[in-house]
Amino acid sequence: IIDRDPVQIAISTGGASPVLARLLRTRLETLIPAAYGRMAEVMGSFREQVQARFTGINQRRRFWEDILHGPIAEMMLAGQEKAAIESLEYALEHNVASHQGEVYLVGAGPGDPDLLTFRAVRLMQQAEVVLYDRLVAPAILEMVRRDADLIYVGKQKNNHAMPQEEINALLVKLAKEGKRVLRLKGGDPFIFGRGGEEIDTLSEEGVAFQIVPGITAAAGCASYAGIPLTHRDYAQSCVFITGHLKDGSVELNWDALIHPHQTVVVYMGLTGIKSLSAGLIGRGLSPDKPAALVSKGTTREQEVFVTTIGELPKVVEENNISAPTLIIIGEVVTLHGKLSWFKPALESHPGTK
Ligand code: SAH
Repeated sequence: IIDRDPVQIAISTGGASPVLARLLRTRLETLIPAAYGRMAEVMGSFREQVQARFTGINQRRRFWEDILHGPIAEMMLAGQEKAAIESLEYALEHNVASHQGEVYLVGAGPGDPDLLTFRAVRLMQQAEVVLYDRLVAPAILEMVRRDADLIYVGKQKNNHAMPQEEINALLVKLAKEGKRVLRLKGGDPFIFGRGGEEIDTLSEEGVAFQIVPGITAAAGCASYAGIPLTHRDYAQSCVFITGHLKDGSVELNWDALIHPHQTVVVYMGLTGIKSLSAGLIGRGLSPDKPAALVSKGTTREQEVFVTTIGELPKVVEENNISAPTLIIIGEVVTLHGKLSWFKPALESHPGTK
């Protein structure tokens, strides 16, 4: 039984293969959002009103179909129940299922498509237009609806295919045309993702949106490199910082970064690695502090370089390192030797430990 009370789905193989039934159940469980139960309840509570409003069965069916395929159902699934009920009341009163567009700001995780959330996949199957970044892996793009329009909005360092303001404006424009727009971002949209700015514009323009978290690079790289970000013996706190330089200098609260029992994770740190390393050591961090650089984390091309913060700039110079890369600094890095488990099939790079 798949239980989304009051919705129930029973699977039977007539006794032929209970294991197959279980496998089917697992597949279906992942396809049917948990909120379907609540959605059915809400629809049930509207049944009488809908019956009174539409006398013909065909009219009623069309009404419910429009609701189930549109933004009202999506609001329910996203936990915006109050707004969903209000829109349902409005739709009923005015006999229009809203054909308003909406935007889904979705975190696509660090690279491995298996790390997408169920909700991300569902929305990827639903959107008619997809705006994606350079960081979104091709294997993930493969999973969006076949007939969706794909728009590359870039963001290579210093080479933005589309300026942020234009991306914001495009999202608004497409949604106002009634489209369901997916804004796919690498990792998590709210961690160094400028997701906040995009949503700001949508909210100002009254466009409906929802935000789906993704696995951020720090979490993905840490797990796939076997480096816990916190650990009872080594680190009681963990900070995420950006190493991206505006004008050749890193503006960071250095003193907060050299705490002994803390892990520091650096996003966008490759170009500025020399200043970062010198800055930390200059403020008193030991040059022997363990540091790891994870390149293309969670993908089949993942490489992990384990060294020290003092040596890291040299390691970067001597190896041909491909972006994106994440730097993890702290004692927890020493656990990599014991805990690393992800060994992609590709030959590892010389110098990889
Ligand atoms: N929103 C994203 C981060 C965007 S900033 C997130 O939550 O992960 C881009 C930076 O993320 C890159 O410069 C790199 O430091 C890091 N990054 C993203 N994906 C990565 C990956 N697969 N491996 C290593 N670093 C990654």
